[in-house]
Amino acid sequence: MEKIYDVAVVGSGVAAYSAALSLKSRKADYLWLGTKGFGEKVRLSEYVRNYPAFTGDGKAFSAALARQAEEEGVVLTEGRADGVYAMGEQFLITSNGKEYYARAVILATGVETAGNLKGEREFLGRGVSYCAVCDGALYRGKEIAVVISSRDYEEEVEYLAGFASAVHVFSVYKDPLFHAKNIVLHKGLPLAIEGNLRVEKLILREGELPVSGIFFLKNAAPPSALVGGLETEGAHVVVRRDLSTNLEGLFAAGDVTGRPYQFVKAAGEGCVAADSAIAYLRTAKKEG
Ligand SMILES: Cc1cc2nc3c(=O)[nH]c(=O)nc-3n(C[C@H](O)[C@H](O)[C@H](O)COP(=O)(O)OP(=O)(O)OC[C@H]3O[C@@H](n4cnc5c(N)ncnc54)[C@H](O)[C@@H]3O)c2cc1C
Repeated sequence: MEKIYDVAVVGSGVAAYSAALSLKSRKADYLWLGTKGFGEKVRLSEYVRNYPAFTGDGKAFSAALARQAEEEGVVLTEGRADGVYAMGEQFLITSNGKEYYARAVILATGVETAGNLKGEREFLGRGVSYCAVCDGALYRGKEIAVVISSRDYEEEVEYLAGFASAVHVFSVYKDPLFHAKNIVLHKGLPLAIEGNLRVEKLILREGELPVSGIFFLKNAAPPSALVGGLETEGAHVVVRRDLSTNLEGLFAAGDVTGRPYQFVKAAGEGCVAADSAIAYLRTAKKEG
């Protein structure tokens, strides 16, 4: 029998951590699924001056969060969720071939502040993908493109190169490093994705590049790409005041629910979402 957690928290930033901390202090059986270090945004902050009782740079903020997590025994399971599926009274969360089950989910995956590429939304699921492990094998022997936002994803590009005949890489950071011979580095970013039923080509400054698919390896995929059927408005999940969503048992917190994009709002929402998830489980138990 698979273990079923009370609540799964998906995300690695302040909102997710705050939710996990609240769940731990309420003695809920939780899974916190994310990557170490509280997210790139924490580390990139030059100076955090608007978080009550804290002043210092992002690295000091991250260190303070890590210290507290250690003292409180808040445990992170390392991994990125590649799908969250509502299955009646529970959710299935998939992560790099692993499966986790929970009765409630808190989505705290942040937002990608860089804009979307023209055609990115339109061709989602028709040649646009956010998950190398999920969709890489679909492009065996084909030419594909990858827009990569962080060095953390270089391994995933190498993985894609194991299937595709050529991988055209557009990096938003300097000096990416690859080993596979079929990886071609391009300067700048594509201007648009074009096609008919599926992706057929990229429009570049210097002309067109025929490709069968394009992967966006970035910190936060659109929430609707992660959770099928989730009501969204642009990049944000539509939430009620208790941070519940249109999917029963699924809550959202932090930047993913909308502005203002601030640590204090993310932390506050993490706590509210944890509270709402626990209240939801209590009601579900009574009714069941
Ligand atoms: C340069 C910069 C400076 C900033 N400075 C300040 C400041 O001084 N004060 C302030 O209040 N705010 C500041 N902000 C805003 C602040 O960083 C955000 O409001 C805050 O980080 C939001 O927290 P979050 O947990 O909602 O999302 P994020 O911090 O974005 O965290 C989400 C995390 O979830 C991870 N994730 C995404 N998808 C998945 C998945 N499928 N599975 C597992 N994990 C996933 C992401 O990799 C990311 O690490 C700054 C932002 C930037 C970019």
